[in-house]
Amino acid sequence: MRPYVNTPPSTPVLVLTALALVIGTPGLTLAGAAGATDAWQPPPSVLSRAAATPDRYDGPAPVCTGALTPGAAALRRVIQRDFRVRDVGGYACRANTADPGKLSVHASGRALDVMVEGAKGDLIANWLLAHARDLQVQLVIWRQSIWRSGRADVRRYHGPNPHTDHIHVEVLAGTEPADFFAVVRLHLEAP
Ligand SMILES: [Zn+2]
Repeated sequence: MRPYVNTPPSTPVLVLTALALVIGTPGLTLAGAAGATDAWQPPPSVLSRAAATPDRYDGPAPVCTGALTPGAAALRRVIQRDFRVRDVGGYACRANTADPGKLSVHASGRALDVMVEGAKGDLIANWLLAHARDLQVQLVIWRQSIWRSGRADVRRYHGPNPHTDHIHVEVLAGTEPADFFAVVRLHLEAP
């Protein structure tokens, strides 16, 4: 479940600094963190970037596929390493909690559960949205809010789990790890 636990931590401060520069929002870490019961509300600069994504959603496969896709596995490594989140769930052959008649996208290996709370969760969720086009993120659920690819806003999430202790994030089908890492490096190193 946690194959990367022993990976030595790299330089999260540099990475976070770079992210703040890339996104151009100095107050990013505080955005939307006013209260634990408030719904997640990304800053406008993040939402405008999130809007530059395709109007596309790849639903779950009809059967469990057995493992994370390469793209989802790559995203998990980046989150674990650069944001120092040890517990990131991934593949699970199970039903969708909000729609038990369907399989979860976890069963297709394209969903992660990033176990975080509070301001750190806002930071990561905003990062996922700001880079959604390049990361090929298709959906994020965090703190009673949901974002889907192609949207310039987040909307209230009414599922049974409010997602206040983890971020659920899905990637589009067919993400390629080589491209993914090239894009992530580009963004992290941008001045
Ligand atoms: Zn999930």
